[in-house]
Amino acid sequence: VKHSGKNNYIFYYSEMKDIINTRIEIEAIIREALETDGFKLLYQPQVDLCSAQIHGFEALLRLKDHNIQPDQFIPVAEDTGLIINIGRWVAKSAIEQFAKWRDMGLGEKIIAINYSSKQLKDKNFIAYLGQLITTHAVKPEMIEIEITESILLENDTETMSFLQGLKDAGFKIALDDFGTGYSSLNYLTYIPVDKVKLDKSINEKFLNLKNNQVMDSLISLAHSLKLEITAEGIEDWNQYWQLKRGGCDYIQGYLFSKPLDSAAAENIFNHIFEI
Ligand code: C2E
Ligand code: CA
Ligand code: CA
Ligand code: CA
Repeated sequence: VKHSGKNNYIFYYSEMKDIINTRIEIEAIIREALETDGFKLLYQPQVDLCSAQIHGFEALLRLKDHNIQPDQFIPVAEDTGLIINIGRWVAKSAIEQFAKWRDMGLGEKIIAINYSSKQLKDKNFIAYLGQLITTHAVKPEMIEIEITESILLENDTETMSFLQGLKDAGFKIALDDFGTGYSSLNYLTYIPVDKVKLDKSINEKFLNLKNNQVMDSLISLAHSLKLEITAEGIEDWNQYWQLKRGGCDYIQGYLFSKPLDSAAAENIFNHIFEI
């Protein structure tokens, strides 16, 4: 520690200790949650801009007994490999929920599940999904796997064969957080995705300008590649109208609904939003 007196050193030391403790603590919390049924899923509606009805729900992970958000605990789960068991738990719970809603007579909505590139290590994940949908008699096209661009930084052949495997089994694939990171439109031409999810940040950047050409072009480009588009993080009507006018397919955001627990999702399942 250079140029620093005692106080600086102490400050630095305690800050580091804090970070280390937190990660260790979070790891312990995750392990405990896996063993004690300590996770739950929330479901955020994705609203179809044509029908104003719910097209699908994104499953979002929460800890039941801790106020630690996924942005904090998912990275720890990824670094420790615990994401593999978490990923399986999420898939199982989401597919069970889908079947439960269907069996209650509510109908069928797409269920979107987040997939971390660290789960590529789980060589039997697609087979596991296959077992789940067979057990619950769910059509694979009702299950959408959300990947992020980071997966394209992993071993190329491994990633491509995973994505192709999902596709061959009939599952849908969505490219999440589009417009963040080092986004290249080029991917869209060679990875087998069905849908693009425009990140909140790109929506904020291009929907609050008077000039919508960038957003309109993105939507047209995706459609010309036969991809559907969901805009995420939509909070206001101005954004809504611009997306609607541009021909966007689905909107996910607080404007329509926050992520809901399963009981609240049930209540809103066949709601038609007033626009
Ligand atoms: P994401 O996949 O991009 O999920 C969207 C996030 O945006 C969610 O945060 C959601 O609650 C939030 N959101 C939705 N609408 C709005 C809005 O209108 N305004 C604002 N400000 N936020 C909105 P959440 O649930 O905290 O999840 C954060 C991230 O954690 C997710 O980002 C995803 O990357 C990751 N994650 C969540 N659940 C899972 C999971 O089961 N597995 C994996 N691997 N990652 C997960
Ligand atoms: Ca997502
Ligand atoms: Ca996203
Ligand atoms: Ca995100």
